[in-house]
Amino acid sequence: MPPIFQSRAIKAAALVGSGLASFSHTRRAAEATILTFHGLCENTGDPGILDWSLHLPMEMFRRICALLADGYRVIPLVDLIEAQNKRQSLPPNAVVITFDDGYKSNFKLAHPILKKFDLPATIFVTTGFIDGEELLWFQRVDLALGRARKETIEWKINGRKLRLLLGTRALRQQSLMQLMPEMKQLPDADLLGEVGRLEQALGVDTPLPPDLPAPMRPLTWEMIREMKAGGLVEIGGHTHTHPILSQCDPTAMRAEIFTCRDRIRAETGAQPVSFAYPNGREEDYTHGTMLLLREAGFQCACSMVNGRVGEEAPLLQLPRYGSPESVWEAEATASGAFETLKEWRQSCLKAMSLI
Ligand SMILES: [Zn+2]
Repeated sequence: MPPIFQSRAIKAAALVGSGLASFSHTRRAAEATILTFHGLCENTGDPGILDWSLHLPMEMFRRICALLADGYRVIPLVDLIEAQNKRQSLPPNAVVITFDDGYKSNFKLAHPILKKFDLPATIFVTTGFIDGEELLWFQRVDLALGRARKETIEWKINGRKLRLLLGTRALRQQSLMQLMPEMKQLPDADLLGEVGRLEQALGVDTPLPPDLPAPMRPLTWEMIREMKAGGLVEIGGHTHTHPILSQCDPTAMRAEIFTCRDRIRAETGAQPVSFAYPNGREEDYTHGTMLLLREAGFQCACSMVNGRVGEEAPLLQLPRYGSPESVWEAEATASGAFETLKEWRQSCLKAMSLI
């Protein structure tokens, strides 16, 4: 587990144990929290995947859902949009559950848990992935490093030379963490070519969708229609091929948004109203992206910038939190304790600067 997660986990436990979470639960009840999940897994023992951060164990998800069902009001994302549009207040302690990418485990593992606790959720789907046309590009990078037959490789990217060590599983994971930030800086037009060259250099075949390890597999449109018909799941857009939109030229950006919308509309019979930006940092989308989303009929878009949703939150830049990895972290996030701590820290620093 990377140190950043360890420190967040320890901080979460301290916030819950100290009572700050229950203080925030009351004091910050008017704000909403949007949580982001990706896939779920039955266990984390599959050595075929290097990055397990996208696949939360289902038992942890079940425990987080039990916490949310007990102490919070889990609402559909569309209710949050409506309240913002009508300038109405949200129910106290509102939480929205979202999933990104469109993994099969959303249907197989998450949906039965959502049904058990009667919790609504939005799944943001990458439509080309669901169509079975292609793997997500970052899955190909993960599998290429995981399946490489070499012990080491020198890789030139963005004017830098990386030495990727592949001798052990731990080294392969480190190499993946080293390479991914560089890949994300590439113009989208160059990205798939770079992934193909990497596969070639590492001596691995480009995997086909049936080759994917189980947790990486996509939903089918049949599964999506079944969940949607069940009434708890809303389907939102997450582009067609999962590029970082700010790295796309205007034509490609438009195609990613409109193809995604059109595929969802064709397969579900409904216009999607919500969207999630791939990668989701502020630099991963532009003002032009937001204009295209509006033109395509999307009413809201979620980022991955951490924050609470207050009355003033802009609908096309809704903040979200990443997947909690423990019940304590879910409690510290949903209650607003992390934000309270951040504000206290800032006011302390401000006071100290005045002394
Ligand atoms: Zn994604």
